[in-house]
Amino acid sequence: MLSTRGYAAKSASAALAPFTFDRRDPGPDDVLIEIAYCGICHSDIHQAKDEWGGAIFPMVPGHEIVGRVARVGSRVTKFKEGDLAGVGCFIDSCRVCASCKDGLEQFCEAGPNWTYNSTEKDKKTPTFGGYSSQIVVDERYTLSVSPNLPLESVAPLLCAGITTYSPLKYNGVGRGQKVGVVGLGDLGHMAVELAHSMGAEVTVFSTSPAKEKDAKRLGADSFVVTKDPGNLSPLANRFDLILDAVSAPHDLNAYLNLLRRDGVMVLVGAPEKPAAVNAFSLITKRRKLTASLIGGIRETQEMLDYCAQKNIVSDVEVIPMAKVNEAYERTLKGDVRYRFVIDMKTL
Ligand code: NAP
Ligand code: ZN
Ligand code: ZN
Repeated sequence: MLSTRGYAAKSASAALAPFTFDRRDPGPDDVLIEIAYCGICHSDIHQAKDEWGGAIFPMVPGHEIVGRVARVGSRVTKFKEGDLAGVGCFIDSCRVCASCKDGLEQFCEAGPNWTYNSTEKDKKTPTFGGYSSQIVVDERYTLSVSPNLPLESVAPLLCAGITTYSPLKYNGVGRGQKVGVVGLGDLGHMAVELAHSMGAEVTVFSTSPAKEKDAKRLGADSFVVTKDPGNLSPLANRFDLILDAVSAPHDLNAYLNLLRRDGVMVLVGAPEKPAAVNAFSLITKRRKLTASLIGGIRETQEMLDYCAQKNIVSDVEVIPMAKVNEAYERTLKGDVRYRFVIDMKTL
């Protein structure tokens, strides 16, 4: 067993604190990654506070993991010692169901083995995430990371990057399309960069007027402050696709009404409370309301390669491990541009 240092929440109301635990010795198909950086996703906060239910404590959050391969098993072919590697939201899945076979492991019918707040394949051993010194993962669930981008800014791509890339691709976003992004948080700011890079005309809907300059720098063509509902009505029936990346309960109907006939609204934000949808918001223009969950391994690699080629990264604020609780508070207040990333050297 490999003794591993990390930070864990011991209960839904506890602050994160130092925690030592064991990881398995790398098997023949495993890589051992020395973690360099881990992003703080809003999902880490939802889960550490048990806002989605069923939390497993102690919990070591973190699923935006990048680092260097420190050891490889005898059958590993994709990685060698010293390579850069990444791990996202899951570390394994059943490998045999239709979704796994289609490379959509996030929808594994047996349930993926999530990187934390979940169990290993034995359905008993808890998984511990990236707020830790090292991780052992089967090479099939490990991503290759380009050395051409700043590593700390790549970490958030492992969740926020793929979560926004996947629905843009799946829904065929391309040149000339009108795309709306609701909520300029970390997911939102990645969505702006990615949709812009795909040739879309991008409008940001935000509660934070101070983010306008950033939105334009990231590639947005327009910026709409949503606190005044009067700002939305002139945009009715206009958008091909709206991606909603808001972490808290809010009115979806106001945005559905902005879709053209057959337009699509994709939810990626996961507030803890359900939202009310007015049937008329959909009926009147045959609009579609759908959602998306991260992405499979194949598409995550495609997204990492695409971002390396297009020079797309997350705007990050690197923090020492000891500031993680403060970073949670600041994320909840929207006081981050746009992702906190923990420097594991400080662990
Ligand atoms: P984040 O950085 O905290 O951003 C959330 C943004 O939502 C904020 O920056 C803010 O944008 C907006 N917002 C917050 N509170 C609001 C409110 N009360 N009313 C309206 N807007 C509000 O979070 P994130 O890491 O990007 O994650 C966003 C959500 O996606 C979370 O719920 C997370 O769990 C979920 N998520 C889902 C997936 C998936 O696979 N579907 C993957 C990762 C994360 P403005 O300041 O611009 O208004
Ligand atoms: Zn995440
Ligand atoms: Zn499966």
